[in-house]
Amino acid sequence: MTWKTEEPDFEVIVIGAGVAGSVAAYQLAKQGRSVLLIERGEAPGSKNLSGGILYCNEMEKVFPDFLNQAPIERRITRNYVSFLNQDSSFAIDYQDTRLAHPVNAVTVLRAKLDAWLADQCTDTGVMVMPGVRVDAVLTETTDDGTQVVGVQAGEDKLTAHVVIAADGANSFISRAVGLRPKPKQNQMAVGVKGVISLPRRTIEDRFSLSGDQGAAFAVVGDCTQGVGGGGFCYTNLDSVSIGVVLRLDDLVAKKKAATRVFDHFLSHPLMAAYLEGGELREYGCHLVAEGGLDMVGDIHMGGLVVVGDAAGLTLNTGLTVRGMDLAVGSAIAAAKAVGTAIERQDVGAQALSVYRDLLFASTTGKDMERFARMPEFLERERLYSKYGDLLARIMHHIFNHDGTPREPAVKVAANAFSRSKVKIGQLLSDGLAGVRAL
Ligand SMILES: Cc1cc2nc3c(=O)[nH]c(=O)nc-3n(C[C@H](O)[C@H](O)[C@H](O)COP(=O)(O)OP(=O)(O)OC[C@H]3O[C@@H](n4cnc5c(N)ncnc54)[C@H](O)[C@@H]3O)c2cc1C
Repeated sequence: MTWKTEEPDFEVIVIGAGVAGSVAAYQLAKQGRSVLLIERGEAPGSKNLSGGILYCNEMEKVFPDFLNQAPIERRITRNYVSFLNQDSSFAIDYQDTRLAHPVNAVTVLRAKLDAWLADQCTDTGVMVMPGVRVDAVLTETTDDGTQVVGVQAGEDKLTAHVVIAADGANSFISRAVGLRPKPKQNQMAVGVKGVISLPRRTIEDRFSLSGDQGAAFAVVGDCTQGVGGGGFCYTNLDSVSIGVVLRLDDLVAKKKAATRVFDHFLSHPLMAAYLEGGELREYGCHLVAEGGLDMVGDIHMGGLVVVGDAAGLTLNTGLTVRGMDLAVGSAIAAAKAVGTAIERQDVGAQALSVYRDLLFASTTGKDMERFARMPEFLERERLYSKYGDLLARIMHHIFNHDGTPREPAVKVAANAFSRSKVKIGQLLSDGLAGVRAL
């Protein structure tokens, strides 16, 4: 049993007003806890960056009227998966009105979403403190081991029964207390994103959309110039979010600059046609945790729980990038565990281990387990360099009527294979690994 009888400054201190931190703070304040939410950015959201597709299910558990009240952009009903080559592309265009009833995914802009979340926190009684960077957590040694008892920001020391580290993919806080190791290079990616302004009508015409429907492109191949990762392009109401996510180890190995890869993607004829006449209104780089389940490791100790990206909770399945909904899922589990621990007056490591149990009993934890093989699958280099070319070669034979007699389909495929340098065995192995990972 670990409990300090003297009253701390706050029952809970949350570090980081991103999606995970704000949702955790909001939930705990709703339980009647005194909560301080500290954010180093001058305003919540000012330092944050996401591609921008939010799968809404978890958020609606916290804010049942989220879709009507929150600053969402478009409801995604059209998903493209595109293999991009230098002069060609091959895409699957999946459009489905069922995705709008009930709404499955929406586009968001973090500067607006995070500000809205922070407002919900303030309205519920959370003290939101922007423009303050937490430098360290305060610890004490107890019979049960090291116990986190507060935070230090500059000269200021503030105490709490529990600290929630929601400080993003780099989480210095959980590393500083020795809870989590520095991530390996192949577990991290760097994302570069721009927001390009375009008139609403232009977006709807170019992407074949109407009303508040939205489109999402997931792109592999030439968009990353051979680096492991992918590109994305999502429609907002009057802007387009576009960017690349590049595996750090491969970026370093291939000696590429992330910003150059991003410029290359934007100027690719396939993307440039969608962006023509647009104005770059936001631009930023951010780390992405990409190690999957392997990266999660320890996420609690006496007096501390770790949520969202700080806990390694991001999923890249090659088709979708998810992090925000997992951040919400972990915040829900953390708020429940922390609230119960405070109620029972025991905030030691054993009591807070309930957080892990709740997380892995939830959709968030189960999905992390479900896609555990995905990071390894996505390290297969051929995915980024050869398959797009192979598909385009086959399509070129089918659609290019050059006056010569047509060849049998088997010969067309065999020729395409031999030119693309993909072996049948490799295709089978990649296919099998892909199916297993999904
Ligand atoms: C290019 C890119 C594209 C992505 N696309 C998607 C997508 O389409 N869909 C999706 O769901 N996810 C996507 N993600 C992932 C998603 O952005 C993250 O999973 C999500 O932001 C995690 O939220 P979080 O609250 O855990 O962390 P963050 O949003 O990173 O928030 C952490 C907060 O902590 C603050 N902070 C950090 N250190 C301190 C400190 N010492 N003191 C005080 N404050 C501190 C930061 O300023 C920040 O506000 C993408 C990420 C990137 C980079």
